[in-house]
Amino acid sequence: MKVIWQEPYESFSKFINKNGYKSLLIVCDKNTLNVCANKVREAVETNDIKYKIVCFEPDAIADEYSLGRILFEIEQADIFVGIGSGTISDITRYTAYKLKTPFVLFPTAPSMDGFASSVAALTINGLKTTVIASPPEAIFVDMEVIVNSPEILKKAGFGDLMGKITALLDWQLSHIIFDEMLDLEVLQIMKDTYLKTLKSVGKNNFYRNLLEGLITSGIMMSRVNSSRPASGSEHHLSHFWEYHRVKTYHGIKVGLATLYVLRFYQHFLNLDKSEIIERKEYKVNINRWENIIKKAFQWTFENVIKQNERRVRKINNEEFRSQVINRIVEKKEVIDNLIKDAIRVYKELVDSYKKLEMPLNYWEIGLDENLFKMSFLCAPNIRERFTILHLYEFLGLTDEVIQSF
Ligand SMILES: [Zn+2]
Repeated sequence: MKVIWQEPYESFSKFINKNGYKSLLIVCDKNTLNVCANKVREAVETNDIKYKIVCFEPDAIADEYSLGRILFEIEQADIFVGIGSGTISDITRYTAYKLKTPFVLFPTAPSMDGFASSVAALTINGLKTTVIASPPEAIFVDMEVIVNSPEILKKAGFGDLMGKITALLDWQLSHIIFDEMLDLEVLQIMKDTYLKTLKSVGKNNFYRNLLEGLITSGIMMSRVNSSRPASGSEHHLSHFWEYHRVKTYHGIKVGLATLYVLRFYQHFLNLDKSEIIERKEYKVNINRWENIIKKAFQWTFENVIKQNERRVRKINNEEFRSQVINRIVEKKEVIDNLIKDAIRVYKELVDSYKKLEMPLNYWEIGLDENLFKMSFLCAPNIRERFTILHLYEFLGLTDEVIQSF
């Protein structure tokens, strides 16, 4: 997959000719039509290429209706061209995949990390799900469009990218404690890209670095065939808030959650080995856990309990506790060093959120205190993928950290 940063429209025209494509299906929305899709159209018009434009409302979602609309309107198309950010790229990616047609993207905002991804995020039966699709043949970037995209979309993309700080810590933690496979090269590429973006906030190349970081995330997820390098406890928290209909962009929630998750890591740094060993005696109170789940997942609590029961009961297994705690104690210095390395940017991160006017506190996104505090106990039940919040659930120290928030 190629990313073209220079002369996107001319390059696109050459790409179409080189590959002998004769007909295009252009997918866009009413906002991206004027800022980008018309330029794409003009670029191919001179080449005697047939095209059809399917233009969605700006608030469209990637659901059955939108997917069906593509099927209804499509005529002949050798290639699909998605022009937009999250929703448009998901609609294009999935329909192209289903119809076994190649596709390319013109991102119009640096808002999320799914551009290069091989999965599509759809809303089916009203529920968000992730389905297999394929990555684009190429991504063409018009930097002028990116720079002039709505501020809120840029903030969201920045929050999503900064979420990699904790996602990568969670991945390493799981590698150290449970021997989960870790790809060192992917880890390094991800670190470099978020740091490069963080260091460039307010500078000329910021938006370019941001979009590049988001595209890179998608490529790295495809490389390890998992969202592990891009999604950890900060995403579980964001999903929990989404479940409770907290109305703000995904990346804004992820960015905010990252700050709180880092404070769990900070707490771990201050734990003594003796305090960790003492936690061998701890047991999860299953009744309390069930009550929290009932309260927090009102609509689906039975499922959540069913899916997590085995996991939570295992936490109380003496042999398991002793194994895990021994491993943590043995590797405490190694873990501490990783945390220290990542957490160095905490102040810089907070400063950059301030500069970009992003939320720094839970109430700024409309979360009430009860729900917010419950989030940290609930997040481990969103997904089994091991994170710092699973570790704190295991140690029984979640409440202690939350009290300091
Ligand atoms: Zn994300």
